[in-house]
Amino acid sequence: MDSTLKRTWAEIDLDALAHNYKTLRDRIGANVKFLGVVKADAYGHGSVQVSRLLQELGADYLAVSSIDEAIELRLNDITMPILILGHTPKEQVSRLIEYNITQAVTCKAKALEYSEEAVKCGGTLKIHIKVDTGMSRLGYLCDGDYFDTGVEGICEGCSLPGLYAEGIFTHFAVSDEPGDACKAYTEHQFQLFTDVIKSVEEKLGRRFAIRHCANTGAVARYPETWLDMVRPGLLLYGYGEFADELGLQPVMSLKTTVSTIKTYPTGTAISYGGIYVTDKTTRMGVIPYGYADGFFRALSNRCTLMSDEGPVPQRGKICMDMCMIDLTDKMQIDVGSEIEIFGKKNSINVMAALANTIPYELTCAVSKRVPRFYYRNGKMIEKELLLRG
Ligand SMILES: *Cc1c(COP(=O)(O)O)cnc(C)c1O
Repeated sequence: MDSTLKRTWAEIDLDALAHNYKTLRDRIGANVKFLGVVKADAYGHGSVQVSRLLQELGADYLAVSSIDEAIELRLNDITMPILILGHTPKEQVSRLIEYNITQAVTCKAKALEYSEEAVKCGGTLKIHIKVDTGMSRLGYLCDGDYFDTGVEGICEGCSLPGLYAEGIFTHFAVSDEPGDACKAYTEHQFQLFTDVIKSVEEKLGRRFAIRHCANTGAVARYPETWLDMVRPGLLLYGYGEFADELGLQPVMSLKTTVSTIKTYPTGTAISYGGIYVTDKTTRMGVIPYGYADGFFRALSNRCTLMSDEGPVPQRGKICMDMCMIDLTDKMQIDVGSEIEIFGKKNSINVMAALANTIPYELTCAVSKRVPRFYYRNGKMIEKELLLRG
């Protein structure tokens, strides 16, 4: 559905996305493949639009979390390889094959199920083996005493009928965190990963076409881990300290407009609970951006948004559909003026830190009520509202 509304909206700068892709592509060089992580609707940016651009720019692979996310891309002309990082029930194997989608295989039980289903429907399922080297989430456990059984299980999975193991991968737990302990942990994960690959390849007598492990932290800090393919998400969207260091640009700017302005005397309690009381005559604006749009209520009375005249403090509890901002010394800001919540002027990194979280959570939280406006070559090319109808 198209949106005609300028209430609260997210501007998605596809030029910034292209810049980020090209910068990262230059960084990794021509011999390393590029997988763009577009799960969770491309971290809230719109996976179809993001994937279209990545496909056009020559990215090699995409990754999503579920079969629904993968098929959404297939139904929108995305023909490049897609890897599902998460769980797919075995009943869906025939659809994986039909839509030519690659599935992560994370343990022996899954390998057996997938193999059986693939054989039943007479096709071959392309898989990437997931190795647990220390993330302690999905993957064949291979650390310490588990090395031999892990390697054995992987070899067995790779040899089952109906499966073609194109790739093998692992995921880092602390590659984006500072300090020697995190560096040592990441190096241990990488060493274990390469040891597992070596052992499996020797036993199988063949090589994996694609070995990959580098997420955002590793793309920024550990070039030795890039192997055949890198797998960044956050960097592509231009957030976090590494994006700043690498000269990447934020892709999303979340904006709203001032809907009402009123002037209150000293001593006026603002919003639910009255947690903020004016300490002077206060010119207060209402903006139609609340927690149902993706704002974090925990940020109530603690964060700053950006007007054309500079920062404006948010006051009182954040409501479901709106919140208040202090415009006392911003006399040029009027009803209808644009306010940036986060984006090119108001760094999402600051707001994420204030909310004691990471930028990922803020862009993923932007709700479907907020239309996405897409910009290419500086011009708006598409408006998308995610509400049904
Ligand atoms: C989400 C995810 C990524 C991307 O992580 P970033 O920190 O955004 O780069 C890479 N690999 C896996 C397995 C993931 O789940």
